[in-house]
Amino acid sequence: MKILVLNAGSSSLKYQLIDIKTEKVLAKGVCERIGIEDSLLKHKTTGQEEIVINKDMPSHTEAVSLVLNTLVSEQYGVIKSMDEISAVGHRILHSGEDFKCSVVITDEVIKICEKNIKLGPLHMPANVMGIKACRKVMPNTPMVAVFDTAFHSTMPEYAYMYAIPYEDYEAYKVRRYGFHGTSHKYVSSEAARYLGRDIKELKIITCHLGNGSSIAAVCRGKCIDTSMGFTPLEGLPMGTRSGNIDPAAIEYLMNKKGYNISEALDYLNKKSGVLGISGVSSDFRDLVAAEKEGNKRAALALDIFSYNIKKYIGTYAAAMNGLDCLVFTAGIGENTAEVRERVLAGMEFLGIQGDMEKNREKNNGKIRDITASGGRVKVLIIPTNEELVIARETYELVR
Ligand code: ADP
Repeated sequence: MKILVLNAGSSSLKYQLIDIKTEKVLAKGVCERIGIEDSLLKHKTTGQEEIVINKDMPSHTEAVSLVLNTLVSEQYGVIKSMDEISAVGHRILHSGEDFKCSVVITDEVIKICEKNIKLGPLHMPANVMGIKACRKVMPNTPMVAVFDTAFHSTMPEYAYMYAIPYEDYEAYKVRRYGFHGTSHKYVSSEAARYLGRDIKELKIITCHLGNGSSIAAVCRGKCIDTSMGFTPLEGLPMGTRSGNIDPAAIEYLMNKKGYNISEALDYLNKKSGVLGISGVSSDFRDLVAAEKEGNKRAALALDIFSYNIKKYIGTYAAAMNGLDCLVFTAGIGENTAEVRERVLAGMEFLGIQGDMEKNREKNNGKIRDITASGGRVKVLIIPTNEELVIARETYELVR
């Protein structure tokens, strides 16, 4: 059984074709510049060189068609016919309060996703477009929506509520939703599996540190709190996002810089974070290199990022009344030893002790245990795999 996993962005469409029996990726790729001129497809069949196909893609419908044609093509294909694709799993940003888990896509589900566009205006229109394009091109193939927010739907009311008038929460659904749920779910269950323990016995903090970064408290298998909020702007400082900031400072900055509200949000989303602090880059590889050359602001950006992670770990250990396992994942979590080292320093009081030599070992794409001997809390680096979770959940719902 083969599952096609799709992740539609405003001008892009990422895909993976996964054999669910072996959980192997057969082929993957991305359509870029959809709806813009010079659109192209980058396609890679596992074990072969990446190829690039330049083709006009005025909309996501042409992109889905091109992906399918490439997957069945004699030259680059991995399947003989489209019928070999048993189901499609769509990565969808926002479930609102409507879904608490993945669902089979029906007309009703599409309507609810359209209603929730207002909650994720940057990603949801493309997500919905991806579903509709797929329906047009492969109308008889079952499809599943896997939501980035769903894993966080178990948060208690006191964790997801903001302290605004209750009636505004009711009317406008302004609350913490959290994101990267698929990744937090995957790495927390991988941690339990690796430790040979039932997840229902464990208190785990998962740090998903990538261009977007978030932390989750997973208590006995359920998310009880997470750092991102109504949008992915809240929480940790990130590549280009500010994370937490006093809302009154925004008005002050708007007046000083003459920004309207959308310019202010652009500033907080795209010009802030470690890019804004360092003036160097949003990429942690560049920051580490700049720090080595003596760049003080790059070092400061790394300090601020790591310090904020530490604060969340303390907060969530308190929220769960304990901690058994700390997980690092995603681009920075899996690769940037300099960040992990800063986070792990001075955390003995919580039972967290990292082995700094193991921490420096290169990423081998596998789970790495970097707990120091005597450390009570297990410290693990776990490669995330959101596409695999989407494929698994799709399979579970359609089989
Ligand atoms: P996203 O999926 O949110 O776009 P990623 O999880 O790919 O982000 O993380 C990207 C970040 O990971 C970048 O800041 C990058 O510098 C950092 N990183 C550090 N080392 C590596 C590496 N060896 N490979 C990929 N990303 C790395």
